[in-house]
Amino acid sequence: MTPQRRLSGKNDDGDILKRYEEVVGPAVIRHLLQLGRYLEGLQVVHVNSTRSGGGVAEILERFVPLMNGLGISTRWEVITGTEGFFETTKTIHNALQGSSKGLSTAMMSTFEATNAENAGHLRPILEEADFVFIHDPQPAPLLSLCPSRRGKWIWRCHIDASRPNRKVWRYLRRWTAPYDASIFSLADFAQPLPHLQYIIPPSIDPLSEKNIALPDEEVTAALESFGIDPSRPLVVQVSRFDRFKDPLGVIEAYRLCKRHQDLQLVLAGGGASDDPEGATVLDEVMAAAAGDPDIHVLVLPDDAHRTINALQRGATVVMQKSTREGFGLTVSEGLWKHKPVIGGDVGGIRLQVLDRFNGYRVRTPQGAALRLRHLLQHPGQAERMGENAHHYARENFLITRQLRSALALMAALQAGDPERLEISL
Ligand code: UDP
Repeated sequence: MTPQRRLSGKNDDGDILKRYEEVVGPAVIRHLLQLGRYLEGLQVVHVNSTRSGGGVAEILERFVPLMNGLGISTRWEVITGTEGFFETTKTIHNALQGSSKGLSTAMMSTFEATNAENAGHLRPILEEADFVFIHDPQPAPLLSLCPSRRGKWIWRCHIDASRPNRKVWRYLRRWTAPYDASIFSLADFAQPLPHLQYIIPPSIDPLSEKNIALPDEEVTAALESFGIDPSRPLVVQVSRFDRFKDPLGVIEAYRLCKRHQDLQLVLAGGGASDDPEGATVLDEVMAAAAGDPDIHVLVLPDDAHRTINALQRGATVVMQKSTREGFGLTVSEGLWKHKPVIGGDVGGIRLQVLDRFNGYRVRTPQGAALRLRHLLQHPGQAERMGENAHHYARENFLITRQLRSALALMAALQAGDPERLEISL
């Protein structure tokens, strides 16, 4: 089937390819179609533990129709469990991120029994599939419960497992080691496993409310609704009120820069009611901002995606001055919106911000202030960096790239010959 014919398909999955083509351009879609042709007709199953809420469900919601649109027969299964099961998997999740709380024998039994129950009805689908993607630890034991599997199984870890609780990791490794391959988001997040490991960074969705293009009037109206003057320079940092996001460092950088330069600052984050540490940080931020009408500390509801979109689009410069960071989706969000990004020189920000090309990486408030001042005083240069930023995000940090990587991985495993992989044009 030619790319043209596929794209003119009448079904929803054909339409989704068309919608992405309008945003990312035909070359990106053509590349996906090439990979899709190689994998056409294969049966793929993704398994996770929730249909909505959280980054994994968000990605799958787009991935599954996109893969179907490419002619790869893809389904999404969700395992179910009791409260006790999800308490156990939360403990595993936290332990992978370094929490010292371990698993009791009862928790392990719940974990294994729930997976066995789910395997009871999922087994025929999973054993028949050509590829099974198991997302995160919750459904990891399913592989061992499908002894007649015929396809390749891939464990997709979305969690930063760089410094896990060793005991819990050893337990989980029992279930994940027999997979054919695993995927981690960053090299730093990975743990050794006895199979091929792929590094596929996260991505943003250009069609989501958070990232979709907005009319200028909507951006202006959003800024004005918070008392921000759209005609004056604005630096924006969107992030949880967390010490590692360094909001106080951002305020200090703003103050240093403001000695020389007119400027407004937005620090936007979520409510901190369920996070005592977050509430303390928010109090400190409020205190540091007090008395300056050009600092806007915005506590936004969880679903304020369009507002965040407008704030990022209204920014002159986007800031993410983290002192520790996983990937840093807000950086991709800023780059995609044509903004030079000043980011902390840590974690996934290093992958996204190339010094002097699409922004600057900084280590101190003084460094951030210096770069900010430079960008505000050289608008032509800031604009060029903003254009580089958009192109760099488009090439590297959109969901279409994440899908391309996943398809390339499947093609490589399918070819079975690690020496050579031919994808005809
Ligand atoms: N975000 C949001 N509301 C907030 C703060 C953050 O919707 O109040 C979004 C932000 O736009 C980004 C994600 O949450 O999409 C945060 O991801 P990131 O990787 O930057 O940081 P994390 O919070 O995972 O450390």
